Amino acid sequence: MTTLKVENLHVSVAGKEILKGLDLIVNTGEIHAIMGPNGTGKSTLSQTIMGHPAYQVTQGNIYIDGQNLAEMSVDARAGLFLAMQYPSEIQGVTNTEFMRAAINARRPEDDQISVMSFIEKLDEKREFLAMTEEMAERYLNEGFSGGEKKRNEILQMMMIQPQIAILDEIDSGLDIDALKVVSRGVNSMRSNEFGALMITHYQRLLDYIVPDFVHVMMDGKIVKTGDANLAKKLEAEGYAGLRDELGLDVHLTDEETNSYFVED
Ligand code: ADP
Ligand code: MG
Repeated sequence: MTTLKVENLHVSVAGKEILKGLDLIVNTGEIHAIMGPNGTGKSTLSQTIMGHPAYQVTQGNIYIDGQNLAEMSVDARAGLFLAMQYPSEIQGVTNTEFMRAAINARRPEDDQISVMSFIEKLDEKREFLAMTEEMAERYLNEGFSGGEKKRNEILQMMMIQPQIAILDEIDSGLDIDALKVVSRGVNSMRSNEFGALMITHYQRLLDYIVPDFVHVMMDGKIVKTGDANLAKKLEAEGYAGLRDELGLDVHLTDEETNSYFVED
């Protein structure tokens, strides 16, 4: 089992504190969802775990099986986690090259994946996701439409098989068919060797990928944790209702309060 532990995490971006004492534990075998209004720091959490240099940890720690992430290189993190914005920022690398390199980074030098096994695996996953061969061969940052990009990210996840995947808004901009394909991919990964942290703005995704835990994030912290029913309750009552229930002194703007109900 692999455990990701986030402890009292405080993160500043451009001198402003965004995460304000966030605690979270994700084990392999579990699917967690983090929900929260726009601008509350959900993507900041994802970027910080991946080691993005713009996000400065000012207090607290992130551990993977007890090892402090601050002591791990960004490359070493990439094998353990897959945060979805990450690969799209790489220039001049094809999708297949990226996936092969990521798979091999996690294998010993004398046991790199053979071209044959790689292609077999790629064909199998690609067909499962109804993706064309051509799409898998493209350059990473070249000409993917929104929906193709998300589908491709799921392909990468299925190929690289990270222990813990961080999926930031994989549902945004997807039509219902693409959402189903993406969900099928994530559900196919469910096992004791795989954990996921799904960041989403909408409950809809959680109808397709039913999480074991739902966390609500407001003002840079997790303010409530529950099971899949918490997401349904949130949909019915909104973030403002939860804030009142918890007696939180968190002031959402009208835009933030309403944003939950606005479709992409
Ligand atoms: P969410 O994903 O919950 O919508 P984000 O983590 O993207 O929220 O953003 C939280 C806050 O941090 C916002 O006010 C946003 O403007 C700010 N922020 C995030 N990333 C950056 C950045 N790279 N530079 C400046 N501000 C940022
Ligand atoms: Mg975000």
